[in-house]
Amino acid sequence: MKRWNGWGSDKIEASLSSSAKAHLVEVIGPAQAGPTADFNDIVLRCPPSRLPDHPLINKDPGLRLGYARGQSLPDWIALRYGTVGLFPDGVARPADEEQVEELISFAQKNHICLIPYGGGTSVVGHINPAKDGQPVLTASLERLRKMIQFDEGNWLAVFGAGVSGPHLEAQLRARGYTLGHFPQSFEFSTLGGWIATRSSGQQSLYYGRIEDLFAGGTVIAPAGKLELPPFPASAAGPDLRQIVLGSEGRIGIITRAIVRIKPLPEQEKFHAVFFSDWTQGLAAVKEMIQARLPLSMLRLSDAVETSTTLILAGRERVVRLLHRLLRARGLGQEKCMLLFGVTGKSESVRETRQAALEVSRAFGGVHVGRMMGNEWNKSRFRSPYLRNTLWDCGYAVDTLETVFLWRDLPRAAEALLQRLRGGLSDIGERVLAFIHVSHVYATGASIYATYLFRLAETAEETLERWRRLKNAASLTILAHGGTISHQHGVGVDHLPYLAPEKGELGMHVLADLIRKFDPDGIMNPGKLVEAKTPK
Ligand SMILES: Cc1cc2nc3c(=O)[nH]c(=O)nc-3n(C[C@H](O)[C@H](O)[C@H](O)COP(=O)(O)OP(=O)(O)OC[C@H]3O[C@@H](n4cnc5c(N)ncnc54)[C@H](O)[C@@H]3O)c2cc1C
Repeated sequence: MKRWNGWGSDKIEASLSSSAKAHLVEVIGPAQAGPTADFNDIVLRCPPSRLPDHPLINKDPGLRLGYARGQSLPDWIALRYGTVGLFPDGVARPADEEQVEELISFAQKNHICLIPYGGGTSVVGHINPAKDGQPVLTASLERLRKMIQFDEGNWLAVFGAGVSGPHLEAQLRARGYTLGHFPQSFEFSTLGGWIATRSSGQQSLYYGRIEDLFAGGTVIAPAGKLELPPFPASAAGPDLRQIVLGSEGRIGIITRAIVRIKPLPEQEKFHAVFFSDWTQGLAAVKEMIQARLPLSMLRLSDAVETSTTLILAGRERVVRLLHRLLRARGLGQEKCMLLFGVTGKSESVRETRQAALEVSRAFGGVHVGRMMGNEWNKSRFRSPYLRNTLWDCGYAVDTLETVFLWRDLPRAAEALLQRLRGGLSDIGERVLAFIHVSHVYATGASIYATYLFRLAETAEETLERWRRLKNAASLTILAHGGTISHQHGVGVDHLPYLAPEKGELGMHVLADLIRKFDPDGIMNPGKLVEAKTPK
């Protein structure tokens, strides 16, 4: 069963070796196991539903709790300490477009807020009820999961937007195709959620971000239906798909999506290279991308992430040998690991691997073969399970992400790390923070930061620690010319930092657009722009 207060299936546990635990104690400090509130106790605090009866709506308090929160750290804190507070008043699971239309018109007539819900994997508060007092209905799209059309001749497929990653891929793979969109949340996130948040998969270098893969589809809005045909390209004015991408449930419900698919690759290989330090690694990555090497994945970890990954890997003997080998090649404490993926036809995989290794060598990189890359590939959807284990050990873990121009990246990354690491020093708390570069472009690259700190006794204090770190990091990102999100979206957690990057006119344009689709402001209020779109 899916965990209601953590990540993933309750059948899967991620273990932490005793040396990894000892490392955390050394770096962050000893900690007490985090609290785990009882499901039934929280359900007892769920207020009565304010929704009128409707055959499609279920008002069961347990079900409402299951759809109340996503996967952000504030969500975890609310669920684990038992401070949920706001619940949807009911949950509907429409089975087709007619039922989606029916729910939207019911919500309009009865002044109900409607939250479209994909897989609930949002890490920025996208699917949480807002505090504005209106009744809230969560519409989970999980039953819209069929492949509606498979168009091999045009490399297109049409899916119900509630299809999850594994179901989508299984249906395509059975026919020899793939979408190639693999966010780390792949196991539970959905096609509609990917589109509505402008998601980016781990192999976006080869397959493209979701905005490259989303060819068209259907959005049902309070103001009507938007049909987007899958043109290969068009110069007919601004592209309306761009309004749907990143719309965060504010303009309507995406019911069907047409996606661009590819035949399954002949081969896929993942390699690891170590560099003496971050600067050398970064220079190599930039060179690879600007030389247009057709790689499918690049992930350069800083020295702290590299050493933490090796410690968490748990295979102490192998890791000791690796350290020895790298030391013999002159790589010490500051060494950084680059994982790169090559995907495609066998010959091109071989050539690209060669070319990537040549660039690596030019920057002093030491190739250590495929073991670490294979390990990453095997466990890439398993690492989020560590969040459960870390909580049980008394540590909160959160991530944040942005993208900088190459020009700004080194200084910005350094500043970001400093702000996170020193962010709680005034209260005597230490923060373990590290970064990697994972989505790489000719003009710059994304920075993905992970930070861990000790849970406090109360929900308020833990939340306050998170707030301070998040705020300091977000302001640092803005000050260095980064975007507030490269892939997670805005939701509520990034909302205070959006206006500086969009500008006043930009924010008004967004609010006006939303109002056109949703004149009464019932769709997912409080996200992306303020709750009641300003008139
Ligand atoms: C462990 C973990 C790893 C992650 N890794 C990545 C990653 O590698 N890359 C990445 O991009 N993101 C990642 N995320 C973030 C998250 O998975 C993405 O934002 C994802 O796209 C959300 O999809 P979802 O189906 O879960 O949407 P939800 O969380 O259910 O909803 C997100 C937003 O989309 C809207 N929405 C959902 N479905 C529809 C629909 N059919 N119509 C209209 N609006 C809709 C919702 O209203 C909400 O505003 C990660 C999250 C976690 C917890």
